[in-house]
Amino acid sequence: MYDLKNIYYPESPEEAVRMLEADENSVLVCGGTDVLIRIREGRLAGVSLVSLNDMRELKRMERESDGTIHIGPAVTFSALSDDPLIREYLPPLGEAAGTVGGPQIRNMGTIGGNICNGATSADTASMLKALNARLVLLGSGGEREISIHDFYTGPGRTVRRREEVLTDIRVAREDYEDMYGAYIKYGKRDAMEIATLGCAVLARTDTDKTHIRDIRIAYGVAAPTPIRCFQTEEALRGRPIDAALFARLRRDVLSEVSPRSSWRASKTFRIQLVKELGERALRQALARAGVPDILKGGGGHA
Ligand SMILES: Cc1cc2nc3c(=O)[nH]c(=O)nc-3n(C[C@H](O)[C@H](O)[C@H](O)COP(=O)(O)OP(=O)(O)OC[C@H]3O[C@@H](n4cnc5c(N)ncnc54)[C@H](O)[C@@H]3O)c2cc1C
Repeated sequence: MYDLKNIYYPESPEEAVRMLEADENSVLVCGGTDVLIRIREGRLAGVSLVSLNDMRELKRMERESDGTIHIGPAVTFSALSDDPLIREYLPPLGEAAGTVGGPQIRNMGTIGGNICNGATSADTASMLKALNARLVLLGSGGEREISIHDFYTGPGRTVRRREEVLTDIRVAREDYEDMYGAYIKYGKRDAMEIATLGCAVLARTDTDKTHIRDIRIAYGVAAPTPIRCFQTEEALRGRPIDAALFARLRRDVLSEVSPRSSWRASKTFRIQLVKELGERALRQALARAGVPDILKGGGGHA
């Protein structure tokens, strides 16, 4: 049984904002894979829901003439992984979406819900951080566009106000063009498992594929919120692709993460995963960029 007061079905994001304002005991719901569980557990008992589930304009996928890709927040993980735009321009994001839950969750859960629940374990969040995604929030005062780097404020907390609706996720051309990436999630089993640790890496090489031109390293569950390792990225940019590059990554990322022990894994184990997944994801990204024989090394370092 779900302890619900009302369910509202707005026809537009603007109407959703008005409904949220009019009923202060209401919350947004999209796929419901987080919200309905919280209601059932009693943590959100007695609320009213404002549903975005059937809102077509929040499922729009588009690429503008300047190369900016728009991702509708109500797009499910399955639709995201299968979308032709994502397959052509943002395959690492489709890869991250493909690791979520099992087929039922991927058919219901949405990328907008994944970002807005504020979880550090959200599988698409670290890849969106690597992609420097920008988020458009619609509230009673109009729209504001913010960087995903300014969105998270703590575990389960974001800057989104209760009556604000995430209406668009934007990725600029310079953040994906010539970038190759990989998302690796570690869980105790392959399906229906929240990440013990997740790592998203994007890399751009020079034309002869011997040096790193640009790199982005992001983690989930390595800190209270999804994080980027900006200092490590700075240290690795321009370096030759050799064993020293991976050793440097393994050493430097440790000063930027702050994993904790939980019932899923100890801090010590997560630190090991930070190093290992970071190196593996970079090797995979470089292999996809066409760097030869790069998957052969790795593992066994301190
Ligand atoms: C069995 C199971 C397995 C799971 N496995 C994974 C996993 O492997 N990886 C993972 O990352 N997650 C996992 N989850 C969590 C969940 O499925 C995802 O976080 C999903 O993305 C939530 O999306 P949703 O549309 O269902 O969100 P909802 O439950 O509808 O909403 C989640 C939150 O986001 C807000 N919200 C939703 N849409 C918007 C919007 N457009 N604007 C503003 N706020 C919005 C809601 O108010 C709510 O606070 C799992 C959940 C279950 C039940």
